[in-house]
Amino acid sequence: MKDHDPYQKVLSRDLIKDKYEVLIIGAGFGGILTAISLRKKGFENILVVDSAGDFGGTWYWNRYPGAQCDIESYIYLPLLEEVGFIPKEKYSFGPEILEYIKLLASKYSLYKNALFHTEVNSIEFDEDRSLWNVSTNRDDLIKAQYVCSSIGLLNKPKLPGVKGLDKFSGHCFHTSRWDYSYTGGSSNGSLNKLKDKKVAIIGTGATAVQCIPHLAETSKELFVFQRTPSSIDIRGNQDTDINWIKGLDPGWHKERRDNFNILVSGGHQEKDLVNDGWTSIMKKLGAVLSDPSNIDEYKDLSSKELDELIQYADFEKMEEIRNRVDAIVEEGSTAEKLKPYYRQFCKRPCFHDQYLQAFNKKNVSLVDTNGKGIEEIDPRGVMFNGEIFEVDCIIFATGFEVGTDYSRRAECSIKGKNNITLEEKWSSGVKTLHGFQTEGFPNLFFIGQIQGGITANNTHLLTEQADHISYLIHYANKIGAKTAEITKDAENNWVEEMKNSALDNEDFLSSCTPGYYNDEGKSEINGLFSLQYGGGPVKFFETLEKWRKNKFFQDVNFK
Ligand code: NAP
Repeated sequence: MKDHDPYQKVLSRDLIKDKYEVLIIGAGFGGILTAISLRKKGFENILVVDSAGDFGGTWYWNRYPGAQCDIESYIYLPLLEEVGFIPKEKYSFGPEILEYIKLLASKYSLYKNALFHTEVNSIEFDEDRSLWNVSTNRDDLIKAQYVCSSIGLLNKPKLPGVKGLDKFSGHCFHTSRWDYSYTGGSSNGSLNKLKDKKVAIIGTGATAVQCIPHLAETSKELFVFQRTPSSIDIRGNQDTDINWIKGLDPGWHKERRDNFNILVSGGHQEKDLVNDGWTSIMKKLGAVLSDPSNIDEYKDLSSKELDELIQYADFEKMEEIRNRVDAIVEEGSTAEKLKPYYRQFCKRPCFHDQYLQAFNKKNVSLVDTNGKGIEEIDPRGVMFNGEIFEVDCIIFATGFEVGTDYSRRAECSIKGKNNITLEEKWSSGVKTLHGFQTEGFPNLFFIGQIQGGITANNTHLLTEQADHISYLIHYANKIGAKTAEITKDAENNWVEEMKNSALDNEDFLSSCTPGYYNDEGKSEINGLFSLQYGGGPVKFFETLEKWRKNKFFQDVNFK
């Protein structure tokens, strides 16, 4: 299956041979927020480059029917108060988020220096000139004093490694490259060209959960190939009460974001402002998980008793989810197969009010692979358990690469001082200070989920990171430094801190079903959490703030 942009035509353009103060790789929220933060500090000469045809990042690519953000729009969408934007609903759908991202790009004049449908192939640091030489797949030769790489967490679509993948004679695509010319319809559904088509969808993760109700609505026949059932909690979307949002006191956005972040990190708050599925799970589990010594009724319990308490809270929550399946799915054996049998945080929780209902339709069949996954693709369709399911179209809702080499996911060769590549530098493990910089690669910043405090509300993390990076770049400029490079000691200290704070969750994750949280169940886990700071996002944000106030000049060589 060839990767291409199904949404926008690639236009021809002239080569770029200019020099920029800052080059940003990635036009998603991370890239945009960094550019905006720099703009506010007076940087004009910024170039944003992306392989997509516009701003949007994950929301550019993931336009499948029903795409929606599970994080409340009032905290997910950044800069709401500043821009005066009011989301239509508590949980925004993809098109609204994409429009908002484009609005931000226009408002902060980012379109004037943006290169789309352009992949950065290599960046090499020129020590004599203290500049990065940047080459692209469009033969541009760009120079930049600073490079900020914001490639996103889930940027590289993944297909199942099964036999016959390229042998299928029908139509196929990945959910992040939805082919509306084949299915008809739009992100809102109405896939009317599927009325006479037999369709297979592989995977039942957060993406599949959202598009399956639309496929079920119009496909002549739909086969859902499940490896592991997702846990599907209540969505409960609501229209925004305009009077409520307009009546909020200034500063409400930060307060709401912080409140959510603290609650989902297992901390305590007098009020639960967002009050949704995420905070309810964490109120059940998080308080016990995070710091039981703070809670009167738990503080005298032994670790065994605490563990039992956590397991019980987890079991109660999962029973609630399983009971919901029974209440909605009419056919008994289908309901049994749709019940998640693992602990809550083995997999990402999902929220939907039409997914389980789709299995009551006569044209929808669940093919449960009992945790094994599909076996083979045949020219006629999908094979499982010796049976061939003949279909016209296969849709891969099989997710994205997580935990593979950074350079591989960035599809870019990164060469720092002394011609050392990033792959070489990180061959025995990722080494950074706060996830932003690595020694030997001056003026290069990473934005995203590397050795930082991951949180359910990703744009909150990206906002903090963007502000931190722009602070450093601005400081370097102010003192007339051409380069900012972290010291070896600073890097070693953070790597040590990463080890000391590492979540002791390897036993838990290895007991889980395979998925991207545990690197598909491999023995040495290299999944999502192994790259994160175990102290959590609240402590991470505090660490950054303190560091900016007290310590950065010791950890960074400005020259
Ligand atoms: P994903 O969560 O990685 O799900 C991939 C699915 O493919 C899983 O169900 C997986 O099975 C299945 N799979 C993989 N190989 C298979 C095989 N050989 N045979 C059968 N099934 C196979 O990917 P995603 O659904 O695209 O979501 C990725 C992430 O994006 C989410 O976790 C979330 O962070 C984000 N996202 C968020 C939203 C939202 O806010 N609602 C929506 C979409 C995506 P297993 O279940 O056994 O692993």
